[in-house]
Amino acid sequence: AERAQPAIRHLRAYDPGHDLVALRQRFGEAALVELGSNENPYGPSPAARDAIVSELSSLHRYPDPRGGALKRALAGRHGIGVDNILLGNGSHELLMQLAQVFAGPGDEVVFSQYGFAVFAIATQAAGATSRVVPALPLDAGMPLGHDLDAIAQTITPATRLVYLANPNNPTGTWFARERFATFLQGVPAHVIVVMDEAYAEMADTGAATDARPLLARHPNLVITRTFSKGYGLAGLRVGYLLAAPGLVAVMERVRESFNVSGPALAACEAALADEAHLQGTCARNAEQRAQLAEALASRGLRVLPSQTNFLLVEFGDDTARIESALLERGVVLRPMRGYGLHRYSRISVGNSEDNRRLLAALDEVLA
Ligand code: PMP
Repeated sequence: AERAQPAIRHLRAYDPGHDLVALRQRFGEAALVELGSNENPYGPSPAARDAIVSELSSLHRYPDPRGGALKRALAGRHGIGVDNILLGNGSHELLMQLAQVFAGPGDEVVFSQYGFAVFAIATQAAGATSRVVPALPLDAGMPLGHDLDAIAQTITPATRLVYLANPNNPTGTWFARERFATFLQGVPAHVIVVMDEAYAEMADTGAATDARPLLARHPNLVITRTFSKGYGLAGLRVGYLLAAPGLVAVMERVRESFNVSGPALAACEAALADEAHLQGTCARNAEQRAQLAEALASRGLRVLPSQTNFLLVEFGDDTARIESALLERGVVLRPMRGYGLHRYSRISVGNSEDNRRLLAALDEVLA
């Protein structure tokens, strides 16, 4: 480690939670209830699988380095130009590259306490300084959510980037587009605002969180999206960002030449075309989310509001014991100790069978 760059020397790698490969071996895949990684239990559109099969005859070829067909489909979907889009090997890659491109030693990057874990890692890897803004208090309308006023006040001439997530992981919290529009108006032009919308497809339309309408007016706004959540394609690793063409062109300089594989490009294009599948899985998620939140609350547990496919649940002093007792029963949650949320666990919303098994195990553990 002492040979690494100063910025990397003290960096802790992203923690993906439990060793799922070992747990699957121990319990058998069918017996394990995997609610630790915010995956989509309904899986992708069948058209995405068919598209991958069609690609199998071209595995000896490099993919389209620009991902042109997928970008055209995305441009159509979002009502923007192809040159407003950059594809990434997951949105995680893009979040990392944004810091690499726009921040360095001496620069500041602002994000919220309990903001998505990659914000801090990206900042540190770039050698920049994190300015972590306290989250909203537990008794706020949006407990543990982003405090946009405090974030705005933390911006200085040294600030290069602001990372926000709407809705945010791991809190599930969100803020309205109108509120964000006011925030953006106050941000100086030298600061790039990255809006991570990984869970955008899961949010109720009534929540009006989506920042896309603000792109045209704000050349310093970047929106990141992913095929991992709503589209159920986490295994393929495809994300993308939407931004002004000049910003996209600068980001292109650090992109690996073939960063998205051929099967992944083809599958995402097919998934994008199957709007009915997306709407169907998001509707089922919303229904299950409401039912699970109610079931947990009826057991006396505090559940934070969520517009995502997971719930942040307060187990209190017993959190570590409950988590390990559930794990013994094959139920995987995400511990929140790494975030400093020692009294909470994050539970992905599964399908009805997953959630039934979670609640049955929880009743045993809490008895
Ligand atoms: N942003 C947020 C808020 C997330 O929760 C995740 C996945 N956990 C990501 C980005 C990264 O997703 P991916 O790299 O699969 O696109």
